[in-house]
This record gives sequence, C-alpha cells and structure tokens, in this order.
Amino acid sequence: MNVRYDIKCKVCNYVFITKVQLGYVEKANIRLGCPKCKSLIKGTIYQNAPDYSVSFENAEYGHVSAEANAEIFSLSTELPILKQTANAKNNFGFSLSPFIALTGIIPLNIFRDRYLEFRNYREKYLMSLETLIELTHNKKWDYVFSEAKNNFFPELSNNLIKNKELSFHLVSQIIRGFINKAIPTNYEHSYTIRFLYKATLTNIQKDKVVLDRLDTELNTYINVDREFVIALKICLNFIINLESYLPVIGLSYGKGFDAVFNDEFLITTFSFEELRDIYKDSFELLARASIVYIGFSNYLRNNDPNNFSDISSLSNLTEFYNMNNGNKKDIISKVPLLQKYFRSLLDSQIRNSIGHNKTEYYIVEQLIKYYPYTDLKKKDIFKEKSLVDFAYLTYLMNLCVTDLVSFIGKWNYRMGVN
Ligand SMILES: [Zn+2]
Repeated sequence: MNVRYDIKCKVCNYVFITKVQLGYVEKANIRLGCPKCKSLIKGTIYQNAPDYSVSFENAEYGHVSAEANAEIFSLSTELPILKQTANAKNNFGFSLSPFIALTGIIPLNIFRDRYLEFRNYREKYLMSLETLIELTHNKKWDYVFSEAKNNFFPELSNNLIKNKELSFHLVSQIIRGFINKAIPTNYEHSYTIRFLYKATLTNIQKDKVVLDRLDTELNTYINVDREFVIALKICLNFIINLESYLPVIGLSYGKGFDAVFNDEFLITTFSFEELRDIYKDSFELLARASIVYIGFSNYLRNNDPNNFSDISSLSNLTEFYNMNNGNKKDIISKVPLLQKYFRSLLDSQIRNSIGHNKTEYYIVEQLIKYYPYTDLKKKDIFKEKSLVDFAYLTYLMNLCVTDLVSFIGKWNYRMGVN
C-alpha cells in the first residue's frame, strides 16, 4: 500500500510531498534530506495495519499542503528506492507506485516471510539473548548454561562441564540462529564462510594441542575473550536494529553477495552519521581480529603461527601486529582464501577518510565524497560512494562480525572437547 503525505520542513518551511510505501514493518526509522535547505529530517513510521502514523522530529505533517508542483519523495522502510523516482516532478503516474519496478529484482514474498519469521523469533527470545550476553560478559558460566538450556537447547545434558568453552559455543550458535533467520539462505551456504574456515580451522579443529597453543600465542596480541564479547554486542545491535537494514537486505536477496551497485538506489532508513558509527566499530574489531585469522592461516600452511615465509618477508606475528591497517590488508590479500573471504571489506582508504572526517556527505543525493590521500599533491582527489553502497558494506561487515563470533565459538568448543 502506498500513502501520500505532505511534509513541511521546520527549518525552511518548504512543503513537499512524500509517497510512503507501507508493508509489514511495524516500526522503522525514516531519514531524508529536505529538498530545499538540505537539512536532515528524522522520523519514524508506526504501523498496525490498516492503521499507520508518521512522526517527525523536525518536520510537520497532516495540516500542511504542498503546491501542485512540489517535489515528490518516495519513502520506504522495507525496500530501496530507485533513484530516478526520488524527485519525480510532474511524473505522478510513475511515482504512484515507485516500488513496483523492484519486484523484478527482489523476490518480495521470500524476503517478507523470512523477515516476519525473524521478527516473531526476536520478540520471543531477545530478552534471553541480552541476558546471555551479559552473563557471558560477567563469566557466569553456570547461568549461561541454564539460560541457554531453558530457552534454546532443552536437549543439553546437565552433566556437561559448564565452562567458558561451552558457553562461547552455545552463545555463538544462538547469535547465528537469530541472524540466519533474517538474511538470505545463500549466506549460510555461501563460500565466504567456508573460505574462512578452510583458511583457518578446518584441518586443525580436532588437534586440541595446536588449538591451545594458538590460544596462548594469539592472546599475547589481543584479548580474544574480550573481542568475543565486543563482537556479541555488535551482533546484538544489528539484531535490534535490523529494520533499518531491510532495504539493503532486500537487495542481497536479489543480487547476491558479490553485487556491485551503481548509484541506482536510495534508502530512507539511515543517516550517514548513524552508519558511520556502526561501520567504525565493526572495522576496528575486524582489523584487530585479523591477527587471529592470520595466525591460524600461517599454522595451517607452515605449522607455525609466526611463519609467513610463503607469502611475505615478515618474520613473526609481532611485525604484522605493528603494521597499519593498509599494510595488514596487503598481507591478508596474499592468503588466497582469506583474500576471498574479506574481499573489499577492510578498505582502509574508506576507514581512514571516514575516521578522520575527510568526507563530505550530500544528504539529498545520498552521496559520500571522501578524500583518501594524505599526500599534499593528492589532497584534493576524492572518491565517491553512494549511501546504499556504504550501508551494504556495513551490512556485510556485520555478517563478518557474526562469522567471528562463530569462529571463536567453534574454536572454544574444540578446545573444550575432552
Ligand atoms: Zn528545509
């Protein structure tokens, strides 16, 4: 169902028209730029079909009416929006149903059904998940066990040893269970996570001595347990705010995980600043954790976590640890399976520009311009990324954080097996 709203920007008093696509999401964020003064308008859509309401922090609606030739904005909390319809001046025929064109790209029924299943599951179990993460953070292994058994794994035997290793394993499986309900099944079956496992755990997962040795070695560089809890909290945030990601998740149903987007789509559910914070947290975690994957990978190839000899002249993990992220990425890219796993995710040009605010964001066009070079001669050279691309990248990073949770969970489980 599409409904029409006239909205008045409180900053410049301009009144424009929005066509809102309403579907199955009960509550979701709206973020759009005023076409005249370019300020960010923030709002929320609530829906309890057939009723719905919209509220905005810095715009009025309901008692205002737009001029006949006012600009039309398409809004959707579930689907990306084709860019050419975003300012469909005098083009009422097309703008009445700007979302129909997407049904050829996204299999809407599957996407909707999976989301609804996820939402029901989350409603039932979210509180238990939050409890489990707190208990894990506080190392209350007995309680982690009983909470997990009571809500998720009734078949667990009370005779199991209730330790860290078992707790990490259980919590990682529960996180994976939540996220797999929301995303396309082709991620579960995808080669990406298999590449990661093949490059790290697959051939040594039954060798407890080696796993313990890697545990000791790698914990000299990062505190793996602490990173696990950080990863759990990023996943929890993703689960709680999944509605904001629906437009990009929708795209991943239609185009697959290797999709490269042009600037065809807009999204209304994120502002750049919100996405940037999420991106930075995931990037930092994955960059830190890369030493774990590299240590495992070195061991698999050379029987020694410090031996890089077949890919680089580095002589130990400490040298890797001390590198900046750009150089770390070069090392990762020489490990064939890890390179395939990470692909473009650890783009330190994007990270450095965004982290140091060397970016300009154009709200109405949803375009990010970033200046990646520190060299004076190149300081004015910029690259561009659309917001939907950046949201997609952030979404993939969230999935990689989920993979990190699964990896650490599996590693611990194998260490704990007697
Ligand atoms: Zn305005």
